[in-house]
Amino acid sequence: MNEYKGFAASPGISIGKSYLYIEKEYATPKYDIPEEEIKSEHERFLKAVVKATDEIKGLKNQKKKKISKEECRLMDSHILMLNDPEIKSKIVKNLHEKKKNVEWILFEVIEENIEKLNALEDPYLRERTTDLVDISQRILRHLLLKRRQSLADLTEEVIVVANSLLPSDILVMNKEMVIGIVTDTGSITSHIAILAKSLRIPAVVGLSNISELIRQGDEIIVDGNNGKVIVKPGQSLKRLFISNLKKWKAHEIKLLDLNELPATTLDGRTVMLESNIELPEELESVISHGADGIGLYRSEFLFIKPEIFPSEEQQYIAYKNVLEFMGDKGVCIRTLDYGGEKITTAFHEKHEENPILGWRAVRFYLSHPEVLKTQLRALLRASIHGNLRIMFPMISGVEELEKILGMTEEVKIDLRKSKIDFNEDIEIGIMIEVPSAALTSDILANYVDFFSIGTNDLIQYTIAVDRGNERVAYLYEPFHPAVLRLIQKVINSAKDSGIKIEMCGEMAGNIYATIILLGLGLESFSMISFRIPKIKKLIRSVSYEDTVKLTEEVMKLSHAKQIETRIKQWMEEHLDFDPDQK
Ligand code: PEP
Ligand code: MG
Repeated sequence: MNEYKGFAASPGISIGKSYLYIEKEYATPKYDIPEEEIKSEHERFLKAVVKATDEIKGLKNQKKKKISKEECRLMDSHILMLNDPEIKSKIVKNLHEKKKNVEWILFEVIEENIEKLNALEDPYLRERTTDLVDISQRILRHLLLKRRQSLADLTEEVIVVANSLLPSDILVMNKEMVIGIVTDTGSITSHIAILAKSLRIPAVVGLSNISELIRQGDEIIVDGNNGKVIVKPGQSLKRLFISNLKKWKAHEIKLLDLNELPATTLDGRTVMLESNIELPEELESVISHGADGIGLYRSEFLFIKPEIFPSEEQQYIAYKNVLEFMGDKGVCIRTLDYGGEKITTAFHEKHEENPILGWRAVRFYLSHPEVLKTQLRALLRASIHGNLRIMFPMISGVEELEKILGMTEEVKIDLRKSKIDFNEDIEIGIMIEVPSAALTSDILANYVDFFSIGTNDLIQYTIAVDRGNERVAYLYEPFHPAVLRLIQKVINSAKDSGIKIEMCGEMAGNIYATIILLGLGLESFSMISFRIPKIKKLIRSVSYEDTVKLTEEVMKLSHAKQIETRIKQWMEEHLDFDPDQK
């Protein structure tokens, strides 16, 4: 049994078999093999070679007439290389001598051959190195039991283990079959974490090199509540986790009793608790967790298909469906947050050194106004089907905001000319997620109906810490005094100008932050739906006056850790609160 610690990215516990999802180049595992297993290692290798050969033959037959002579020759040469007797006998010899797993032996033999080829004068022969890499990857894929497929083809329940996952990997995967996610990279506000949470798949991320340590088919426990991964657990540990899982689920169900009650403090202050969604599949959960509305619909997941963006009509239907489902409850749809670590497509013809500081969201709309205008037309047309508000991400200053509002006005004028109905009073807001916007929020407040604080990015940009990079995740501090001061400034600017103030970053669903956000005067909290009952329970058990006092006290502290510790201590003193159920 081995235990690894990472970040608790998505809660819940799952126990199952690992499925190594290692894109393109497969990482080569290395481990010792006892004498008595050498024969079966060799058989494993032979089987993988047969499968790889059949695969190429299958490809040849599939393509039949369309195949060029050149392609045919290449496939034949790969079949020959796969079955090269010299490589095969070298593998057997090394297996006996080195007593390592066959993936590693294959890797060494191929490397040796590549070195030999590279030393040759003949450029044609040197070119063969690419073919060697190709065939070794093909064999390796079969050795690791990884088929050439996407996660969409999974047919049995697995825990996906990967170096990292793209949003598109998660969206196309067969969600019924993925019971857990474990990755080397990522932190709690990375996009893998956000998506895993929306799909309610327990996940632990930021485990450095776990994808090299876990073997295909290993039994593992993913403890998404505590950020732990246990490989090959014993029976008693498994039993313990199963009983913890039951307790955790029972607690979650009990909290649903609060669904019909408002989020009102003991002294009568009521705040809104809304839900963030990424996918329409989440709508049921929004309702079943008692959300007051949708505070953030991340529209980029409609744009996930590479190369083609959805048409105005496709978008209109998607937005209309969400609005109709939610009835008179508010729905805040955010326009496409293109770029950064999210969606990049054919528009991105140039590699960016710093995508997070690069051509993202509003900056992208300014060079591709047609993308924003199509989305705005679809949104405005859908606005008559429910209670919609529109929000722009990544605004960094007033010039940008003026341009975007100008474009919105142009779309409205066009719609009016074409006599297409839309809600003339629709509320337009912006996310405050860039420090320059937070610092000028008093100016920006004059232009919009509401602010929504995006703490995921605001923390990243304020502390200069990549939100997806596990190596610097220790610096990612929601309680950093700089972050709290910016939040305070934004809330005050909104209040002074009489506009609404919401928060939709992960911090809005953080139990410890809730107390301070209440005390700072936040009016609306938007979070992943299943956090709502917990946050509601907490809000209903504190007095607003007390949270204001505590907030005044912690705002004078200098260290993030001191602030967090003081909040925890206060909660222990004032509340009947079980931190294990946080
Ligand atoms: C944020 O930055 O806090 C936010 C809600 O947006 P996203 O996580 O999609 O960047
Ligand atoms: Mg953001």
